[in-house]
Amino acid sequence: MADAADIAAVLSEVRVATGVARAALPIAAGVAGECDECEWWMPRLIEGRCAFCRDGRPRPADWEPPVPHSSSPVATLPVCKEAQPMPAKSIQLPAIAVVAITAVEQLATDRNIALGQAAAELIERGIAAPAASAPVPALERTDIDTLLGMVRARFDDRDEERIELAAVLKRAEVAEARAAEAEAKLVKIRAINAE
Ligand SMILES: [Zn+2]
Repeated sequence: MADAADIAAVLSEVRVATGVARAALPIAAGVAGECDECEWWMPRLIEGRCAFCRDGRPRPADWEPPVPHSSSPVATLPVCKEAQPMPAKSIQLPAIAVVAITAVEQLATDRNIALGQAAAELIERGIAAPAASAPVPALERTDIDTLLGMVRARFDDRDEERIELAAVLKRAEVAEARAAEAEAKLVKIRAINAE
């Protein structure tokens, strides 16, 4: 029959075996953060719990809470918004907005700036303009010249069409006259032959 000494020996063996098994297990790195149980910030949590809570040990009397280090999200510096470049906004002007497109292109050329910059300036000017002047579109001399040029080009196209049509008509007239002349001659020849 086993006595107390035997049981103690077995227990001791079990403890040693358990200790060896624990030591052989890979040690988890753990993560810093607030412990799920005690809610203290701790540099190493395993499955959300600090070493004290995992072991069920009370904190020593002289225990001082650790200071969260830089990897903690609380300690990261806020990113300066002004340091980040503003994303550009793409806007397409409809082809029908001839006046606006012309004005943008003209300003971009005059000032040697990007089209986007020119568009932004014109829009800002429009916003800044007093309400009273709003109904009258502020057309610059160059805008008017460009528009007149476009109108002229349209009429020039028409003129070309007209000239072409006139040439065709002229040729038709000439052909008709020649035909009439030929017919008249034919009539004369027939008359001579008939005599
Ligand atoms: Zn804890």
